Amino acid sequence: MPGNFTGQDHMENKIAVVTGAGAGIGRGIALALAKENYNVVVADINLENCQKVAEEIVKIGVKASAVKCDVSNAGEVKQLFSQTTKDYGRVDVLVNNAGIFPFVPFEKMTEADWDKVININLKSIFLCSQEAVKIMPAGGRIINISSIASFVGFEGLVHYCASKGGINGMIRALALELAPKKITVNAVAPGAIDTPGAKSTEEAQKQTISLIPLARMGQPADIANTVVFLASEKSDYITGQIIVVDGGWTLR
Ligand code: NAP
Repeated sequence: MPGNFTGQDHMENKIAVVTGAGAGIGRGIALALAKENYNVVVADINLENCQKVAEEIVKIGVKASAVKCDVSNAGEVKQLFSQTTKDYGRVDVLVNNAGIFPFVPFEKMTEADWDKVININLKSIFLCSQEAVKIMPAGGRIINISSIASFVGFEGLVHYCASKGGINGMIRALALELAPKKITVNAVAPGAIDTPGAKSTEEAQKQTISLIPLARMGQPADIANTVVFLASEKSDYITGQIIVVDGGWTLR
């Protein structure tokens, strides 16, 4: 069920749809785009969290809509974009952020475990991008949240690494197909970002930080700042690229 929050009406504002925007990196991206005067469609499987983030966005002074959407469900994705069309008439920036990362040893991984991760992390990008392009003007942006797990292996995350590697392959082909429409397609590959989904013990966090040359966990704002750049006109000539934002973790 969509829930709309009316802020100040900026007719000239660009429109961004952010998936998985109820928490973590997605919430950070949604708030950062709102601060740049985007009206934001906050989409997440958790409607209550969507509404909270939409309320925060309206306080910034732009418009926001909260839409419950499981990004792996084609029907719910269609509903997300029909609501976006109804509220704003178009989408300028789609941020495919929703994703899950459940640790499962490979030998215990079930077909259901595999399908769930691939559907939420990868198929969703096919579903959302296809719907978004229908209502995206020339100069639009598709920005995907990949991961350093698309370049390096992590035990217990075989399905996740496959899904994020799939994103990297997919964006290159999609960037080529959408270039004639002047729609760019890029990805951001985060390292270890401090979010509710990536919660770990203090000890585990210390160990992670010891692997990061810049010696701190990333924050949602680190990823959001990169997304803001990719959404802006300053990135006009960049397409099909993956920007790693990991404090140098994968340099060694
Ligand atoms: P998070 O804290 O778990 O937030 C993800 C949000 O997406 C939650 O609100 C979650 O709702 C929602 N969500 C889950 N399944 C969904 C679905 N099927 N449809 C729509 N929304 C759904 O995760 P995060 O750490 O911010 O991660 C965001 C993205 O960054 C993911 O793609 C992840 O792979 C990527 N990433 C994260 C890190 C990191 O270190 N945090 C590193 C590299 C890449 P519920 O909480 O109700 O499930």
